[in-house]
Amino acid sequence: MDFELSREQKDVRQAAREFAIGELQDIAKDCDLNETFPRELITKAGGLGFLGAFIDEEYGGAGFGFLEHAIILEEFWRIDPGLGQQLCSVSFGAEEFLLFGSEEQRRRFLPPLVEGKKMMGFAITEPDAGSDTLSASTHAVLEGDEYRINGSKVMIGNGSVGDFLLVFCLTDPDEKKRAKRHSIIAVETDRAGYEADPMHGKMGLRASDTSSVFFSDVRVPKENLVGERGNGFSQLMAFFDRSRAYVSAHGVGLSQGALDQAVKHVRNRVQFGKKLGSFQATQFKIAEMATKVEMARTMTHKACTLLDKGKGNTDITAMAKMFSGRTAVEVVDEALQLHGGYGYFNDQDIERFYRAAKVLEIYEGAKEVEKIIIGRNVIGRL
Ligand SMILES: Cc1cc2nc3c(=O)[nH]c(=O)nc-3n(C[C@H](O)[C@H](O)[C@H](O)COP(=O)(O)OP(=O)(O)OC[C@H]3O[C@@H](n4cnc5c(N)ncnc54)[C@H](O)[C@@H]3O)c2cc1C
Repeated sequence: MDFELSREQKDVRQAAREFAIGELQDIAKDCDLNETFPRELITKAGGLGFLGAFIDEEYGGAGFGFLEHAIILEEFWRIDPGLGQQLCSVSFGAEEFLLFGSEEQRRRFLPPLVEGKKMMGFAITEPDAGSDTLSASTHAVLEGDEYRINGSKVMIGNGSVGDFLLVFCLTDPDEKKRAKRHSIIAVETDRAGYEADPMHGKMGLRASDTSSVFFSDVRVPKENLVGERGNGFSQLMAFFDRSRAYVSAHGVGLSQGALDQAVKHVRNRVQFGKKLGSFQATQFKIAEMATKVEMARTMTHKACTLLDKGKGNTDITAMAKMFSGRTAVEVVDEALQLHGGYGYFNDQDIERFYRAAKVLEIYEGAKEVEKIIIGRNVIGRL
């Protein structure tokens, strides 16, 4: 067991850190306030190999593993969760092409993502199908050589700004087994009948796009089916087994960023004639925060390393995601506490981090869903 990053991984981390400090830090607050991000940021990140770093070199990617992808995302989220989210979501769902897509699909869809020229999303959630993904009713009917898609999805990353989405569709409603009724279909957002409405007023991650999307007789060629018809749910679970590992990295980055800010503050702030950091109560808080962050990072790296060895473990990944999400919420809470009243105003970054943290316990599987997965596997089928 090697707990040390390789020389190359340390270089990747350093490069991502420099990019985040140079390109995200100064614009983060305005992007959050205005619910926007500069498009050139995406192309810049693509030019430096930071987007979809797990995508193979033959499809234009850096050819790294999930561990390097997680290391990059941790550095981005450490400086700004909102822009970190947007940079991550450029390739959100690309794993489906790598795992199940045809060679033609990989060559068509993946290179523009890693170059930052196009952005994708994965449209799963519906108004009546959140955690219960199998209730998704957006349906696709095969008519000749085309699928005709009708329905709607909510809270979809890149729904308004993305170039194509993977859409979790009901294709076989009469199939006896619920888990065999859905399929995943790629839909270009410039197709007739596609509409998107940005969802404003997000609590955090406001720099990133989240939209409602609508499909009204949207037609796509049958070649846009990704993987096997009726196998969508199982393909979706394979995706979550990967995406949860890097959502876990989001939690590590957010927590580390909150810890950095808290440390800086308690080193300088004087009350009762002493620096806050000199009180033992403060040292205990910082010690607990630092330990949680280190634990979350270790679990994230373990989940990613197993994935990179082809030994991905659903439980370990779910545990890492659940633990990192909780860590983010707890650490950012203490970090804001240490800032006192100043932390309650948006000229302090910690305010933005505080608002961003909670979603980590909700999306990509609410913490209760992770517990169901872990609990069931630990107890076994009864
Ligand atoms: C910022 C943001 C970005 C998002 N991006 C995307 C995206 O790109 N693509 C996409 O498809 N979706 C996206 N989502 C949606 C997200 O995946 C869903 O919000 C999530 O799956 C939960 O679904 P829901 O909101 O309908 O909550 P519900 O399923 O209604 O659950 C509500 C709560 O009930 C509890 N709960 C649910 N089921 C159980 C259970 N079985 N046992 C115990 N407790 C349970 C949990 O506490 C849960 O938080 C995004 C959401 C947000 C906030």
